Amino acid sequence: MATFKNHLNARGGLRRTLLIVLVACNTAIISGGNSSGSAAVSAPGGVTILSERLGSSVARPTYGWPLKPFNRPHPVRAYLNDPRISADGSSKSFHFGIDIGVPEKTPVPVYAVESGTARLVNGFAIMVWGTRTFGYWHVIPAVRSGQFVRRHQLIGRSMGWNHIHFGEYSDGQWINPLRPGGLGPFFDGTVPTLEKLTFERNNVALDRNHVSGTSSLVLVAFDTAESILPAPWPVAPAVIRWRVVRAERPLTGWHTVLESRQTFPKDAFASVYGPGTAQNHPGYPGLYRFSLAKAWTSKSLPNGSYAIEIKAADIRSNTIVGRVSFTVDNA
Ligand SMILES: [Zn+2]
Repeated sequence: MATFKNHLNARGGLRRTLLIVLVACNTAIISGGNSSGSAAVSAPGGVTILSERLGSSVARPTYGWPLKPFNRPHPVRAYLNDPRISADGSSKSFHFGIDIGVPEKTPVPVYAVESGTARLVNGFAIMVWGTRTFGYWHVIPAVRSGQFVRRHQLIGRSMGWNHIHFGEYSDGQWINPLRPGGLGPFFDGTVPTLEKLTFERNNVALDRNHVSGTSSLVLVAFDTAESILPAPWPVAPAVIRWRVVRAERPLTGWHTVLESRQTFPKDAFASVYGPGTAQNHPGYPGLYRFSLAKAWTSKSLPNGSYAIEIKAADIRSNTIVGRVSFTVDNA
């Protein structure tokens, strides 16, 4: 297994203590959950971290993994709603499930997580319709369309890629199998990373100390997939929100950019991911540029100091809040 470290077997090993680098003044403490601590931390990219909090959900999984061992975590190298961009850039869509890492070139058996009736979507994709409905992609089928399969029955083998794609389908939508109470056991012991926020005009970053006119707000952020290399391996956070504050006082409500309960239609791509976004490929981590606003105007604000606050969480409610200061300087 060249593409990931195989150390996903100890629950304790996945819980990471958050690092508190320095405590500064103006610290906003947001408490609750399984908090390991909160502090204002200046990070490169202009984002000051206000709080980091691990989610406390311990909901029991409803179904196990489609690979053996069924009741142990497997590495996940792509999350719901990760960007999926064709090689020539002409097609952009959201990832409609998760990618579970498997050894490359060595086919591994894939099993039904629940019973149901198999339907072959094509030669490399199977859906199993039952009380709940699941999709298994990049799998060479070992079942026929119309065949009833039992829970944990072999349905096919991985086709030699470094992952199989797994999705849960409900009410006409692909929903998030990693939600608490879905697939498990699954542990995510990291908060998302807020790397950089930029005010951009014609794809050029403006000076945050002299923001004027109309610009687009672009946030580079990602959650980290455990044990996928090269680390940190980015996957989409489940939630991204932002608001404008002045002197600790919110001037707007929280704007929601992303809330990944289900996959989004293709035509929503440009309202979530900004230009320059790149999907990850084996060995290449990708670049997740979230479009907070396409045409945000500073003109309604008097000249002076402000901040954008950003809140990001993964599907297990591991939450980070950060702040980027800026100065409005309209003529
Ligand atoms: Zn996939």
